[in-house]
Amino acid sequence: MMRPLLGLIVLHLLFVNACAAIPDAQSVEDTGPPITATPPVTATPPVTVAPSPAPTQSFLPTASPARVVQAAPPISDVVVEMLPQPSLPTATVSAIPTPTPRSPDMPPRVGLQIGHLRSRELPDELAHLRASTGAVWNGLTEAQVNEAIAVQVRELLIAAGVEVDLLPATVPPGYDADAFIAIHADGGAPSARGWKIATPWRASAASQMLMAAVAATYGAITGLPEDRNGVTINMRGYYAFNYRRHTHAIARTTPAIIVETGFLTNAADREVIVSRPDLAARGIAEGVLNYLRQRDPTDGAALLPPEWPILYTTTAATVYAGPADTTRVIARVPADSRVFVFNQQGDWYEAMIRAGDKRYQGWIRVDQTGVATTSPAGPAAEPPVTNP
Ligand SMILES: [Zn+2]
Repeated sequence: MMRPLLGLIVLHLLFVNACAAIPDAQSVEDTGPPITATPPVTATPPVTVAPSPAPTQSFLPTASPARVVQAAPPISDVVVEMLPQPSLPTATVSAIPTPTPRSPDMPPRVGLQIGHLRSRELPDELAHLRASTGAVWNGLTEAQVNEAIAVQVRELLIAAGVEVDLLPATVPPGYDADAFIAIHADGGAPSARGWKIATPWRASAASQMLMAAVAATYGAITGLPEDRNGVTINMRGYYAFNYRRHTHAIARTTPAIIVETGFLTNAADREVIVSRPDLAARGIAEGVLNYLRQRDPTDGAALLPPEWPILYTTTAATVYAGPADTTRVIARVPADSRVFVFNQQGDWYEAMIRAGDKRYQGWIRVDQTGVATTSPAGPAAEPPVTNP
């Protein structure tokens, strides 16, 4: 008896969502983001998704069969509970990697992390980040802003047939998905503004493709400027990316980005990220959907981040701003400086180099580095673990 009615409701929801989900950068620009003075809302009424048959061919709205949306408890209380089986990350990252096989008829799965949400509940291994509650403006916390956006990204992705996990600051051990997006907002001087996106230090081709896809839609849909050169060590060293050091981190093969959606401390940015979280959400969701359409789900190699052994400088060496000795000199470092490599171009490594207490990010000649024969003194020197 209920079925026809249910079908109508579902069709209606799909229709509404599909309309809302179609991006049109031009129309956004034409209209201009309407600005409302309404105070921020912590979260739109959350939804929960009942199990449903997997789409047969595509995750696009038309192919998505019945998904029943129903009322649910507040999102902050339900975000983590429905997650895949925890699995410990492999102890030795140098082992032959094996991306998790996906069956072709499975809907893609995406993790949306609400930056700083319940950071007090971070596990012992991340206890030093429990007090990292992010930016604040006028009593409005970054976690509230991140949540309002993430909830709407989730709705858009679900409408397109994607399975979504909303995650708090604590990432389930070895979290494995087709994409992981950490959603944050920035704080700084009142004049600082704009969005930026970063991959982990060692970025797989898939992570780079995901970043490019979201970068292509976020600015166009929100109208916010890109904070060029704003990507920081803090973003690339994001704790949830660091599967080498933490159990509560994404899996090595999960494509991942961190999005700084804008500055909570800037009035113009707030007009979008606080007053129009729907725009910010569309900017993210459309990019993620484009990535999922463009990628080859059978290309396991694209999921593998590059790996290098632990290296040290074999001689006094120079760190340059680019892969050539004609570029700006960033620092001169002594022999036995720790070199954390995350990219290579020809004879040059792009790396984080630690000399004493200082860390430098730049380019260093491959032939001035080597695997340590003895263990140089001093602490292990990977990039710092951060929560911007
Ligand atoms: Zn943050």
